[in-house]
Amino acid sequence: MSDPFFKPISGMELPRFAGVPTFMRLPLVPVGHDRFASVDIGIVGLPWDGGTSNRPGARHGPRQLRDASTMIRAEHPVTGLRPYEVANVADLGDVGPNPVDLHDTLERIEAYYLGLKAAGVRPLSAGGDHLCTLPVLRGLAKDAPLGLVHFDSHTDLFPAYFGGRALTHGNPFRVAVEEGLLDPKRCVQIGIRGTAYDSADRDFARANGIRIVTIEELFARGIPDVMAEAREILGRGATYCSYDIDFIDPAFAPGTGTPEVGGPNSFQALQVVRELSGLNIVAADLVEVSPPFDPSGGTAWMGVSVMFELLCVLVQAL
Ligand code: MN
Ligand code: MN
Repeated sequence: MSDPFFKPISGMELPRFAGVPTFMRLPLVPVGHDRFASVDIGIVGLPWDGGTSNRPGARHGPRQLRDASTMIRAEHPVTGLRPYEVANVADLGDVGPNPVDLHDTLERIEAYYLGLKAAGVRPLSAGGDHLCTLPVLRGLAKDAPLGLVHFDSHTDLFPAYFGGRALTHGNPFRVAVEEGLLDPKRCVQIGIRGTAYDSADRDFARANGIRIVTIEELFARGIPDVMAEAREILGRGATYCSYDIDFIDPAFAPGTGTPEVGGPNSFQALQVVRELSGLNIVAADLVEVSPPFDPSGGTAWMGVSVMFELLCVLVQAL
């Protein structure tokens, strides 16, 4: 049973358009708060997009996601799960980035997640661009590699762009595998599509045993069949779920830096997460919502709807 302190504000008490927005209308409990030690699952904002190679703006994601998340209610529509009655969930605030120093920012995020791991808090993170996931994994997986279920239209397994060794949102998972943070035999990437310059990312996946499910295969076999295979690959081991909003068709989520057409609709976007039920998901993120490209706010609404699904999977795995 959860502590009543961690209940979100109900729209039956204060209308959802009123009040100061926190994630899911939960209490704000930053590290150092006197209730921090009671947090089971912490929602963290990562307002940083210094790894973006094309259209930026995801640094503004957490604030817009917080605002949109005030629309989310307390009970899951299919399973009936009421996550806030099972676990102590809080908005932990943002990790403050250094917007003009990529490596300083990566160190700040890594140190923050090392602290969460030491405190036993399971994080649900809101990006920010996809490079944010690399320092999160450095903080969580130094001692034992994690499995990965990754929804994206891109593999993010590319070699450094522009030569050299630059870290970008196109290579967090390649670097994470190279650093031993992920077990490549327990990595599944789903929804991959779009034009390419070369096959270096897929060559890396093949050489390391990473399973790639293209969008063609996902639609040909159907989501339940593909997700059954994913559950088999991931097994009972600790698993990270990383969800790039560009997994979803840009008709439903246009507010992102590198959209790719021909993707899942908004129902399928939620269905894939529901299919993670029963897995040992120990942390998750939702990244790449870029408010400057989201004038309707619909992408943020899609994003927080995915975040609620991820939260329910995290609660089930406690
Ligand atoms: Mn992507
Ligand atoms: Mn990505």
